Amino acid sequence: MTATTHELGHRPVRDVVIVGGGTAGWMTASYLRAAFGDALRVTLVESKNVPTIGVGEATFSTVRHFFEYLGLDETEWMPACKATYKLAIRFEDWRRPGHHFYHPFERLRVVDGFPITDWWLHLRPGERFDRDCFLIASLCDAMRSPRYLDNGIFEQDFREDGDTPQYRTTLTEQDTQFPYAYHFDAALLARYLTGYAVDRGVRQVLDDVVDVVLDEGGWIERVTTAEHGDLSGDLFIDCTGFRSLLMNRVAEEPFVSYQDTLPNDRAVALRVPVDMARRGIRPCTTATAQDAGWIWTIPLLGRVGTGYVYSSSYCDADTAERTLRAFVGPDGEEAQANHIKMRIGRSARSWVRNCVAVGLSSGFVEPLESTGIFFIQNGIEQLVKHFPGRGFSDAVTASYNRQVANVMDGVREFLTLHYYAAARQDNDYWRDTKTRPMPDSLAARLESWGTQLPDIENVFPHYHGFESYSYAAMLLGLGGLPLRPPAALELFDDAAAQRELQSIRDRTKQLVDQLPSHYAYFAHLHGLP
Ligand code: FAD
Repeated sequence: MTATTHELGHRPVRDVVIVGGGTAGWMTASYLRAAFGDALRVTLVESKNVPTIGVGEATFSTVRHFFEYLGLDETEWMPACKATYKLAIRFEDWRRPGHHFYHPFERLRVVDGFPITDWWLHLRPGERFDRDCFLIASLCDAMRSPRYLDNGIFEQDFREDGDTPQYRTTLTEQDTQFPYAYHFDAALLARYLTGYAVDRGVRQVLDDVVDVVLDEGGWIERVTTAEHGDLSGDLFIDCTGFRSLLMNRVAEEPFVSYQDTLPNDRAVALRVPVDMARRGIRPCTTATAQDAGWIWTIPLLGRVGTGYVYSSSYCDADTAERTLRAFVGPDGEEAQANHIKMRIGRSARSWVRNCVAVGLSSGFVEPLESTGIFFIQNGIEQLVKHFPGRGFSDAVTASYNRQVANVMDGVREFLTLHYYAAARQDNDYWRDTKTRPMPDSLAARLESWGTQLPDIENVFPHYHGFESYSYAAMLLGLGGLPLRPPAALELFDDAAAQRELQSIRDRTKQLVDQLPSHYAYFAHLHGLP
């Protein structure tokens, strides 16, 4: 180790430089301020010329921990970001045209030790497992808000935002399943967080980084900007998106591509103004299967974000745009298309010496389960937990890299399952999803899921944001794999399970009757017609 390397590596970190002002950059800057306050100096440099990716508007329910950590209440940030609620993802046409099901933010009820989905397979009480086993599927079909007009929430077995938290929680210690996430305008969120961070002392530099200067040991000494000279620091955070400006300079190892298992590598996106009073607002993200991928529909207040995620091996950009425009209809005629190349996979290491990649520069999988912002949140939380306050340590860096890699590898498995388990096989794209290589670990798990739905013991073993109920919901909804109930259920008295299924039906009916529509909730809140 050289003298300079020694100096940089062992100096306590007090000066952080973030490069990039997209969702990743501003989420990181805000969170570091919220965590460490004045103990840390944070500078964020963002280009006036390089645009942000311009998409990324649906989230996970755990994103609430991020806002809570910052001390931000829904009533403050949601209106500023045109945000709506998201109770589930609605999968359309993945089994066959006209079919849909939901992957909700709702854990399964358990009867006599067996999840209700096991009982459902055994008893087959109806056509729709999602409506029979979860409350949220019916709320989505009926386009209901998760909150009443007096702001009360439909399920109360978790701590409400209004309570004064005694301490702040992060992703991995979440003990209850909060029933909704958000859709928001990503550009407005970045602007909102800019205000939050700058008000609390983050220095914002609007400029292009034109050089990354390393010492002879490969540690970043400073970045050079076009107009503001050099910015030096102890720790540099690469939030430059798919460009990975800093990481490409410090890391020699190859990018770990997921393309062999997840071939979708392009997207075309539109922002479509819609008349919400006429159309209503679905309280969910929709993923509609297409000939060479799928289309997302994300309803915000006043517009919809939509885009076709596809594989360039099966579809060209013109066809993708035409397909998307035909799907959207006349509302989208004036909308400008944003064509995006996606790099699917992750950095072998997201933290190398004094450089940490957060956001698209660290890794990305197609947005089928809205995991981009979740990856950012996880990366930031882990950075705080592993923060090199006394200087850098190889063991701490390795621990961070392991955790971040596990999260992305786990999500890769889950998404691979979506394609493999989908019944749809009507063209080469969908037929090939059944023969493509898959992670070895997933192949082994699939065998066991044929005889017993996924449980905590046999899903991807490291934290990756998805619990076994999500796997069960996808397998039951996608419909392409044979599933059997546990043999033990044949020997049980099913009276308790029948009662539970009835109680779900009763409660669902009550909620659909009592909750306002998702549109009516926001119209009431914002004084809309
Ligand atoms: P970017 O938004 O690309 O920001 C990069 C920043 O770096 C910009 O500010 C740019 O100006 C700056 N920069 C670049 N070069 C320089 C330079 N030389 N000097 C200074 N600054 C520079 N995630 C979800 O959670 N939900 C979704 O529904 C979702 N949908 C997605 C759909 C698609 C098609 C794609 C591609 C991604 C989606 N994501 C989604 C992921 C999400 O968009 C990203 O995780 C999120 O926007 C973070 O992006 P970023 O900040 O890492 O990069």
